[in-house]
Amino acid sequence: MKKSFCFRGSAAKRAGRTPMADWCVFCDIARRAPASTAALLYSDDKVVAFQDINPSAFSNMSSVLLLTTTRSIIYDQLVHSISFILKICVRVFSLCNVCRHYLVIPIEHIPTVKNLQRTNEDHQLVSHMVKVGKDLLSRDAPKSEEHRFGFHQPPFNSIDHLHLHCLALPFIPSWRQVKYTPLGPLGGFIDAEKVLEKIKPETEVYS
Ligand SMILES: [Zn+2]
Ligand SMILES: [Zn+2]
Repeated sequence: MKKSFCFRGSAAKRAGRTPMADWCVFCDIARRAPASTAALLYSDDKVVAFQDINPSAFSNMSSVLLLTTTRSIIYDQLVHSISFILKICVRVFSLCNVCRHYLVIPIEHIPTVKNLQRTNEDHQLVSHMVKVGKDLLSRDAPKSEEHRFGFHQPPFNSIDHLHLHCLALPFIPSWRQVKYTPLGPLGGFIDAEKVLEKIKPETEVYS
């Protein structure tokens, strides 16, 4: 008999899993929606990979600055200059991250690691995601000191569409490692190998 499994032990965690969700930005990327501008590094019928859009906080700051624009021409100029500089910073920061931080996501809309089950299907999917990530980092960042692969567990995940972080270390800046380090019983980041252990299907025993 095939046993179901999820991180919190309840059986019915397939809820929330759909081929795609209209509101989900990662589903847009996976199905290559016109609004999505993410350049895919890899794609097949199960997963896609792309560069992490990490400096989103900078984008938000520039939006806020634009919203606070007043009628003052001088102030407008200042705000636009700051916004322009921030956009350049975001771009440079993105370029710095090239070959450093990739995401691999399933085409299927699976919200988080909590929705994975101890099935061959899910185990193979996560194994495939890890393999794609390893291949990409081996190709693009072969000389980095360590490659790290893992997921954020709720409530520490930023987007409710399962995404494997593939990181070529060291972290730049170094304080960013806090976000990608397992916090023991507190949860947070979880290594991909640990996830694979948890969802490894039990072998059936016949007597
Ligand atoms: Zn999605
Ligand atoms: Zn994440």
